[in-house]
Amino acid sequence: MKKLALHWQILIGMVLGIVFGLIMTQVDWGKEFVGDWINPFGTIFVNLLKLIAVPLILASLIKGISDLKDIAKFRNMGLRTIVIYICTTVIAISVGLGLVNLFAPGDGISKETITKLSSTYEGNSNIAGKLATAAQTKDSGPLQALVDMVPSNAVAAMSNNSLMLQVIFFAIFLGISMLLIGEKKAEPLKNFFDSLNDVVLKMVDLIMLFAPFAVFALLANVVVSADDPEVLLALLFYALTVVAGLLIMIVIYCLIFALYVKKSPFWFLQKIAPAQLLAFSTSSSAATLPVTMERVEEHMGVEKEVSSFVLPVGATINMDGTSLYQAVAAVFVCQALDIDLSFSAQLTIILTALLASIGSAAVPGAGMVMLVIVLESIDFPSELLPVALALIFAVDRPLDMLRTTVNVTGDATVASIVAKSLGKFGKPHVENWDDNLDDV
Ligand code: ASP
Repeated sequence: MKKLALHWQILIGMVLGIVFGLIMTQVDWGKEFVGDWINPFGTIFVNLLKLIAVPLILASLIKGISDLKDIAKFRNMGLRTIVIYICTTVIAISVGLGLVNLFAPGDGISKETITKLSSTYEGNSNIAGKLATAAQTKDSGPLQALVDMVPSNAVAAMSNNSLMLQVIFFAIFLGISMLLIGEKKAEPLKNFFDSLNDVVLKMVDLIMLFAPFAVFALLANVVVSADDPEVLLALLFYALTVVAGLLIMIVIYCLIFALYVKKSPFWFLQKIAPAQLLAFSTSSSAATLPVTMERVEEHMGVEKEVSSFVLPVGATINMDGTSLYQAVAAVFVCQALDIDLSFSAQLTIILTALLASIGSAAVPGAGMVMLVIVLESIDFPSELLPVALALIFAVDRPLDMLRTTVNVTGDATVASIVAKSLGKFGKPHVENWDDNLDDV
């Protein structure tokens, strides 16, 4: 019997998870049951993905760079990647700003809704935590982000998943040095990382066997922890504006595929679907990274030396969905709270949302922390910050799931553009969904 394709298995898991979650919200002991007995399986799955993220980044980046054989090639690829990442992010922010100005979802929010939402979330520890983290980020000097990129201890960097940029820095540094000492001397180390890379990709295959069950657990938990549906409804128009923007981004990626990469957008969406579904279920581009890499390399045919650099860097700095969301959310709260935004304030949003999305960690809810920084850049009254976050908090989780999906799709698109422009878009190693699972 032919096995059901992986993306269908995951989709079925998601739908069943949502249905199960909805049933459990109707049962007295439902929430606790899901929290105690179902959610841990989702957490284990996310932990497994995070577990392999660091070895995968290390092995693939080091191998990818040392394979280039020439430092000029690396410079060329690096520059291209960063420029394209910035372009896609600016497009995303502009789409967000265009839509939120066009639909003005904040204008329809009544004073009662604002009061209700603020009182519902008053003293919410999650909101307080986000404000505190944002204050900390803002207090550090302008070059702090650069300082934070350079680890003082490689092992310490590898032991902390939020220090992904430091791991990337170390891997690039090591890879370049291997290039410089020459192929022959670097060979043993290269072979080691080469083999580590293959092993870790096999680990991804094994973990993915568990994916349909894990997304069931993750989504059941999202549903039972969701807020009051009435609160969600009040923010429907705002949420729909973000969703429309995110959909436009997906269409833009598809157009790029059709026109530049010269591949069918359906082919692309089909190949990348498992990574998108995981991004949606986990709300974390970092946790999804191993799967994104596997899909782009093995299933789409982007050569390793490109994907191994472009994707880890993208997961940490390229967040098109997040920046679009930040632009919409910033203008939305200003509309709702009757704060006038000048044209120059909107331009400031483009710049700060770009920087904020680069600075956002690839973990759930990070985009909302950086939104505070975007708001502060346009002189948003600081006493209203908690109200602003309370306004958008209720729908943040579903929007986080969707924007993370776009973040991951954007990374895969840019990896394909860079690969195409360098003539490194080869044949997929795996034609069918589960070919690489046959020997598991
Ligand atoms: N959850 C997002 C990601 O991991 C970041 C965010 O927008 O909160 O890509």
